[in-house]
Amino acid sequence: VGAEDAAYLISKIRTIPGFPKEGILFRDFMPALADARAFGILMDALEAALPVSADDFDVVAGLEARGFLFGPALAARLGKGFIAVRKAGKLPPETVSQSYDLEYGQASVEIETNAIHEGVRVLIVDDLIATGGTANAARSLIEKCGGTVAGFSFVMELIGINGMESLGSYPSSSLVRMP
Ligand code: AMP
Repeated sequence: VGAEDAAYLISKIRTIPGFPKEGILFRDFMPALADARAFGILMDALEAALPVSADDFDVVAGLEARGFLFGPALAARLGKGFIAVRKAGKLPPETVSQSYDLEYGQASVEIETNAIHEGVRVLIVDDLIATGGTANAARSLIEKCGGTVAGFSFVMELIGINGMESLGSYPSSSLVRMP
């Protein structure tokens, strides 16, 4: 992606200070999806920045909710399937679940039992990595099901809170780094 396209994409990422609470700079990607040029640049950039070769994974797993906006589009481009990693309590069939710590309290992510078969190689996709808590919970969940995590792909990385470092040695990429 060229410098002009990169600047155009970044111009479509909106920042909302104080949402959902005081002190947070909420990064909003919706304008980048609403704009055809920005969405095209975004998908080209995600594909170009894949942390591993597309031959090294079988499916894309997206994290609820904004990983559902890019994950399926990326999977379709690459000729892969898509698996939804959901927040607790959304899936009617039997699920496998993994809990993780939030700043206050706990949350869980879930997938359907049998969504991932032994040995399946998975690329995990989300819009943004902050602390890495959500991404690491998704990794544990996939590994619990016998899958292998090939890598992580994010649109944005919040800097200064070591989210990418928390992923350890797994290959990972992000397009934009911001505080
Ligand atoms: P974390 O588990 O701390 O890495 O947080 C990542 C998840 O929270 C992602 O699914 C993001 O969509 C969301 N998130 C965290 N911080 C922000 C932020 N500043 N702006 C937008 N989304 C955020």
